[in-house]
Amino acid sequence: MEVLTKNAKETQKLAELLAKELFDCPPSSKRAAIVALRGELGAGKTTFSQGFAKSLGVKESVKSPTFVILKSYKLKAKSRFKHFYHIDCYRLKNTKDAIALGLPEIFKNQENLVLIEWPEKIKKALPEKIITVKFSHINETTRKISFN
Ligand code: ADP
Ligand code: MG
Repeated sequence: MEVLTKNAKETQKLAELLAKELFDCPPSSKRAAIVALRGELGAGKTTFSQGFAKSLGVKESVKSPTFVILKSYKLKAKSRFKHFYHIDCYRLKNTKDAIALGLPEIFKNQENLVLIEWPEKIKKALPEKIITVKFSHINETTRKISFN
């Protein structure tokens, strides 16, 4: 599926829809639900994460984690998910870094809902068959967002 959004708010709305879908869905595997957000700098990955988090009832504002690689939020609504993780791998070099950060354990826990920016950096640490959302920069305010 492919969607064009015409401003940041539309991208956040789209993220809300995906978050709702995932939040209510019964476990399809015995691990975390993981969404990989791919696309260049400024493509809208963090903007999408903000809409996603808001939809999960996260009150804290989700910021571009330029220096914070990983942030976790406790989820209060009734769901299989108890924790939301926002991870930005931009500054990670490889799988070793991912292991040092404890990402494999986070990915194993089926109570976790995880969004990952720059998943390419830790390819080998990621489970197979995760959801991928791809962001492309069309012009200043238009982004193409595709789902696998
Ligand atoms: P990334 O995390 O991919 O580097 P950000 O979400 O931090 O990107 O930045 C995207 C920037 O582009 C923000 O300043 C946002 O306001 C702007 N923007 C403009 N149009 C859109 C759109 N349609 N979708 C998402 N962001 C948009
Ligand atoms: Mg970002």
